[in-house]
Amino acid sequence: MKIATVGLSVRYPGAHEPALTDVSVEVRAGESVAVVGPNGSGKTTLLRVLVGVLPPTEGRVLIDDGPIVARSRRELARLIGVVPQREDQLFPLKVEEAVLFGRYPHLSALGLPTAADRAAVGAALVRCDVAHLVGRRIATLSGGEWQRVRVARALAQEPRLLVLDEATTNLDIRHEMEVFELVTDLVRTQGIGAVIVTHQVNLAARFADRVIVMDQGQVRGAGAPADVLSEAVLEQVFRWPVAMTQWDGAPQLVPLRQPSANRTANGRITEEKGM
Ligand code: ADP
Repeated sequence: MKIATVGLSVRYPGAHEPALTDVSVEVRAGESVAVVGPNGSGKTTLLRVLVGVLPPTEGRVLIDDGPIVARSRRELARLIGVVPQREDQLFPLKVEEAVLFGRYPHLSALGLPTAADRAAVGAALVRCDVAHLVGRRIATLSGGEWQRVRVARALAQEPRLLVLDEATTNLDIRHEMEVFELVTDLVRTQGIGAVIVTHQVNLAARFADRVIVMDQGQVRGAGAPADVLSEAVLEQVFRWPVAMTQWDGAPQLVPLRQPSANRTANGRITEEKGM
């Protein structure tokens, strides 16, 4: 499977600036693509268009070279598993019910879960390290536990493309690394495609096959991490000085402190004169 955008532009009603301008990207089965960029650079908007929930103002989304608009919602839900950035907990569900929701595009006409549905839910619960939470109501979970249940729900769907919007926010180091390892493993062993929006530039550099750098609604760079994540690009996009180093052959960013002239002996930043 391949999903591609061609010349996407999005302008939200009433917005002064477009949220996306002429964005053409593609993701193929068997590769993981990280999307990085500052707040407001258009990452979530790109995902929303990519999964078919937001129609672009201009441009097209193609799945295997056919228009996404030709696919039914149910068909799209089978192909694409999404972990959105924000979602309200509308129903007082138990963990296993929330994950079973991921199976809805597979459920029979009667809506009754089959053995295959139960097996997919069980496997997803284990892979996301939340099997011990079965029986708990989702409203009682910690931020990190809920986050992992949401990833489990997307996995239970057994999608061909997994789309994660800041899905490791709230997770401690182990659970964050486990999500990155899990997604990378699914990409390698099951040949799915993955799109990962993250603020963890250094993890994106180590885990992703390709990185897309967004800024102000435009793609500023796309390609292998070593080709794209340069000091010049990252400083320009994040508007903060950085130094680059390497770990395991991947570029790694170190954000620099403010120039020492603005800092007191204890490291605090002093206010600029005249402010
Ligand atoms: P990111 O995910 O990189 O933080 P977003 O895609 O959420 O960026 O936002 C891109 C731009 O579009 C921002 O300027 C944001 O304020 C604006 N925007 C996002 N959603 C809406 C909306 N529903 N209505 C109006 N403007 C929006």
